[in-house]
Amino acid sequence: MTGDSFGFQFENTYTTLPSGFFTEVAINPVANPEIVIFNRSLAQQLGLDADALLAKGASVLAGNEKLEGAAQLAQAYAGHQFGHFNMLGDGRAVLLGEHLTRNEERFDIQLKGAGRTVYSRRGDGRAALGPMLREFIISEAMHALNIPTTRSLAVTSTGELIYREQALEGAVLTRIAQSHLRVGTFQYAANFAEKEDLRALAHYAIERHNPNIMQAENRYLALLEHVLEKQAALIAKWQSVGFIHGVMNTDNMTISGETIDYGPCAFMDVFDPTTVYSSIDTQGRYAYGNQPNMALWDLTRFAESLLPILHDNLEEAIALAQPVVETFPSMFEANYFSEMGKKLGLLSIEAQDEKLILQLLDYMQRFEADFTNTFRALSEGAKPSEPLFQSTEFKEWEQKWLARLESQGTTIAEARDFMKTVNPAVIPRNHVVEQAINEFVEGEPALYLELLQVVTNPYAHADSKFSEPPTDDAPPFVSYCGT
Ligand code: AMP
Ligand code: MG
Repeated sequence: MTGDSFGFQFENTYTTLPSGFFTEVAINPVANPEIVIFNRSLAQQLGLDADALLAKGASVLAGNEKLEGAAQLAQAYAGHQFGHFNMLGDGRAVLLGEHLTRNEERFDIQLKGAGRTVYSRRGDGRAALGPMLREFIISEAMHALNIPTTRSLAVTSTGELIYREQALEGAVLTRIAQSHLRVGTFQYAANFAEKEDLRALAHYAIERHNPNIMQAENRYLALLEHVLEKQAALIAKWQSVGFIHGVMNTDNMTISGETIDYGPCAFMDVFDPTTVYSSIDTQGRYAYGNQPNMALWDLTRFAESLLPILHDNLEEAIALAQPVVETFPSMFEANYFSEMGKKLGLLSIEAQDEKLILQLLDYMQRFEADFTNTFRALSEGAKPSEPLFQSTEFKEWEQKWLARLESQGTTIAEARDFMKTVNPAVIPRNHVVEQAINEFVEGEPALYLELLQVVTNPYAHADSKFSEPPTDDAPPFVSYCGT
């Protein structure tokens, strides 16, 4: 079966970039590919033949069979990992190509875990089934929460074992993205390529993500502004659902503004800005409350890599970039308070609202309230018997909130109807996700499939087994890299 019979329409504009940006890959076939989870609605959205893919697509989605028109390449990039600069690149991912939908939308189709590439260094190029099931469910939950993200089309088991601390079942994730351009791609160009190559990359990014800015007076400065805006909006959305990425390295920050690379990420249960999940993040660099700062740190690296093309004179280039980068904190804050305001039914943010929001968060932290359930309880008009809701602090705060709603002319009933469309009843909680994945890997997918159904309809009322926070005696959740 050729690619065409699945509905793939590849175009490979990435290959028009200078040759240093990618390397073609001959994918090593795997023993026994089998699709273990498939995203039918995404397949349909992409204009692919879902039935054909599900029935006969395993060998294509594992990389065993080359699709017609697919370029099959690994992308070069660099990046700061926990602050340390390294040459990286797709060490275990292969970009099949850019699929064009019938509406002329362009999406990267990438196989993650498809084997070694020239950028693999000491790695085996493979991924384990558990972590790929994790990326699948969390990315789809993020999408359902209206947060820009790469999507997951399928997880295909390989029928081969891979070796980590123990032998694990191997799998390949089919990842869909507006593009896989990263801050790290620009760092690669700035550090390891010629200025002309950097310029070619910037042109490519502009053409792909915001062609309008080709007309701007300084189009590279406009690109910087564009990426800052996208990231300010994205990180504000993360904060508003308690999402902790876990590895905000510059290679994991996209130019498109999509969330990418679901490794040791998780949703926060109890509200605490110091929450960290990654086992290797001993300093709390990527803690929940530090994500906006780290986004700025990463974006400053992005600005630095653009300097050579912003102006021929370095000082002039810095003078152009600096004031733009400095807009990030206020841009983030505007997005953040707007998102948080919506969670409280506020249609716009007035001067006193920031205090109102911060005060609630302060009480939530003090009374160890669950982040998701607190906002959902406010939306439903419920008063659970939890310390926060019983406290005089909360009761006083509630009066101020109700007065504020009244001042914007919203009844509490109207506000709650709106809030129920903003505050999820359920997010993929670590303890449930872990259990669901473990059972799936043991051959029992039922809980995972049920959870997937629930977290991809996050505003509907959910069975309490999915919305309850972990019990106090549950071991703290830690997630590991090297997946
Ligand atoms: P990540 O932590 O997934 O963002 O990956 C960081 C870098 O390590 C990227 O260049 C990956 O391609 C590479 N990498 C991660 N896992 C593997 C693996 N099993 N084999 C080869 N390269 C890998
Ligand atoms: Mg990465």
